[in-house]
Amino acid sequence: MGDFDGQIAVITGGARGIGAEIARRLAAGGAHVVCADLLDTTEIVAEITAAGGSAEGRPLDVTDGEVAAATIQEIHGTHGRLDILVNNAGITRDQLLVRMKPQDWDLVLKINLDGVFLVTQPAAKIMMRQRSGRIVNIASVVGLMGNGGQTNYASSKAGLIGFTKALARELGPRNVTVNAVAPGYIQTAMTDALTDEQREALMKSVAIPRLGTATDVADAVAFLAGPGASYITGTVVNVSGGLYM
Ligand code: NDP
Repeated sequence: MGDFDGQIAVITGGARGIGAEIARRLAAGGAHVVCADLLDTTEIVAEITAAGGSAEGRPLDVTDGEVAAATIQEIHGTHGRLDILVNNAGITRDQLLVRMKPQDWDLVLKINLDGVFLVTQPAAKIMMRQRSGRIVNIASVVGLMGNGGQTNYASSKAGLIGFTKALARELGPRNVTVNAVAPGYIQTAMTDALTDEQREALMKSVAIPRLGTATDVADAVAFLAGPGASYITGTVVNVSGGLYM
């Protein structure tokens, strides 16, 4: 028996990186996972299925509200329930504020924050009627502590934390919890671009001197989505090795 047997979980940006690892983790716990992404999800779906799990892929651009609502409704129509939503899709377009192009400001806010609104609204309606559900938003420690060169990204993630707390208050009475996970520096395509000097400086600023892994983040998500977290809502779980305390 897994913690998520019989449950339906949707993971945005679930094709690769942290989102794919969350999909593997929830599927290993028995959930049927829906990886919804701009990218092709064939590979992750085949991998999970080959490992004995249950998965499907859906093409989704989280900034398209009509498609987002239709996708969530279709998933609910097919499976008859929706138990877990992980808002993981996110991007960076780093630049110092004085050089930042307005389109890079807009795009980061549009995907990282507007996209969460557009996917969560139809999912929340279903979970409210169902009288159960778990929503986990992937924020960032940058939304808590700031980071030079990331005013757009930090604003989107700080906004996501505010969204998490406000929605937790709205949905608590319907037995739906809403929490955020704030990763620090995690080994993915996003951090592969760090130079050796940046990596060395980073190791001096974390209490646990290594990059985090996607599994570290997926474990926190699984806890918040699992049976042990039924009285936890509106929190931010910091998975940063002590980068932010
Ligand atoms: P990746 O870029 O590896 O994966 C993100 C996925 O989201 C990609 O498949 C991407 O597709 C998809 N995506 C992007 N835009 C959209 C969209 N509009 N609609 C649907 N899917 C989209 O990122 P990570 O795995 O590193 O990051 C996942 C989350 O974790 C993000 O929210 C990020 O901000 C957060 N995070 C990551 C950290 C890290 O160190 N890696 C640290 C802190 C937070 P495509 O490739 O086509 O853009």
